[in-house]
Amino acid sequence: MSVKEIIDRCEEIFEDLNFTYAREWKVAEDGRKVVGYMPVYVPNEIIHAAGMLPIGILGGGDAMEVIHGDAYYQSYICRIPRSTVELGIMKNLDFVDGMLFPSICDVIRNLSGVWKLLFPEVYARYFDTPQNFRSDIGGEFYKNDLQELREGLEKLGGREITDDDLRNSIQVYNENRDWVRKVYQFRSDQPWKVPASEVYLLMRAGEILTPEDHTQMMKDYLAAVENEERRMKDNCRVVLNGSFCEQPPLGLVKSIELAGCYVVDDDYMMINRMITEDIPTDGDPLLNLSEAFLKHSLDLASKFEPSEEKKGKFIVELVRARGAEGVIFSAPSFCDPALLDQPMLAHVLDDANIPYISFQYAENSGQMQPIREQAGTFADSIKLWSAA
Ligand code: SF4
Repeated sequence: MSVKEIIDRCEEIFEDLNFTYAREWKVAEDGRKVVGYMPVYVPNEIIHAAGMLPIGILGGGDAMEVIHGDAYYQSYICRIPRSTVELGIMKNLDFVDGMLFPSICDVIRNLSGVWKLLFPEVYARYFDTPQNFRSDIGGEFYKNDLQELREGLEKLGGREITDDDLRNSIQVYNENRDWVRKVYQFRSDQPWKVPASEVYLLMRAGEILTPEDHTQMMKDYLAAVENEERRMKDNCRVVLNGSFCEQPPLGLVKSIELAGCYVVDDDYMMINRMITEDIPTDGDPLLNLSEAFLKHSLDLASKFEPSEEKKGKFIVELVRARGAEGVIFSAPSFCDPALLDQPMLAHVLDDANIPYISFQYAENSGQMQPIREQAGTFADSIKLWSAA
């Protein structure tokens, strides 16, 4: 397959608010179930081990008009909960059997309650991750949490989820994460060959496809892009931060690139990269999932960091590891976790003498010219500084 064919397919999936792929997957065999999850992280391995399809529900994007959703939330919050309610009420999600609401912020937590009231027939669960990273405290809590999720999905699916089912799914997701890392590494090595917009679409497809199909798609993409003739430009290398929940419109991702920036890392759709190392496939699978989150997960605004010294250090390490020249804080309007973290991260960047800019967006932002100008000026100023 050519790069164009793969990316066209990803774009088709991205634009499809009727979730045709997931609907077709569901009806292909009797008894299949689909479980939606919201950003930022749930252990997809357990859903997969239950024989179900996990799909990321990332709001309605810029194509959906929100009418009903506005009645459930005040106007001064982000857009993703409102467009997600809209998707539910307009029956775009009428095939979804379960919904998981991770502990990212109060908005998502409250949405889990709204969902239970609106759709009482759907298995809906607020999914809590630990804020204590000791195995005997946070780990114990989290293992119990995972067990409760396992039992909930067993009830929903009407069958047991065995340890071997879990081990098999852990292996499937280890492979998937491995290829995600390869795509990110390839982009960092040769960003002119792998535009941020293509990586974005490729990762968005992973929110809908089975992990097996998504892994194959990434393999095909990397094989095809190797042979693409794409001209290297004099762009500056930037890390994007703050976009881990409500996703920007595709136009915004393209605008940053057109403004002269190579995006060499980002925090879009963290679920496929949250766990940084392979999870062991022997022993107790829930313990392994729990330990992976405690010991080998990326830093994020939703994770408590008690040490002032360590707070935000990850972004400097990321900038150094990717050879980036600056950071673009790009967060959804009214996003508490991203916008509360930003001054602390900016402080760490100041200390490390790393330039940054910030702007905000909504999933339906339409005017890209100001963002293009801001990102373009940032790229130019980096070029001037580095030339000095
Ligand atoms: S965009 Fe931010 S505030 Fe809104 S639901 Fe997501 S994490 Fe919460």
